[in-house]
Amino acid sequence: MFILESKAQLEKAIAKAMKTRTTVKFIAFGVYQVSGSKGNFYTVECKKIGNEKQVSCECLGASKGLVCYHAASALSLHVGLAKQRQTATK
Ligand SMILES: [Zn+2]
Repeated sequence: MFILESKAQLEKAIAKAMKTRTTVKFIAFGVYQVSGSKGNFYTVECKKIGNEKQVSCECLGASKGLVCYHAASALSLHVGLAKQRQTATK
């Protein structure tokens, strides 16, 4: 699990996600499954607790607090959905 503070944190992970061509499956708002390098899927959860954006992924890297490319892939979808929601409720 890591706390998302800035987009800069994600840059490397996003670059890797693009190279790896991940598949992101929508499970629910804030819950996604992202394909791993071995054809497996990792569940990524994006939560907002107070002002903190918490992102967790099942992979080994994320369990050590690293920003993994699964999380970056899920976040790119999540951020888009969150924006749609905001505009829908306004
Ligand atoms: Zn991961």
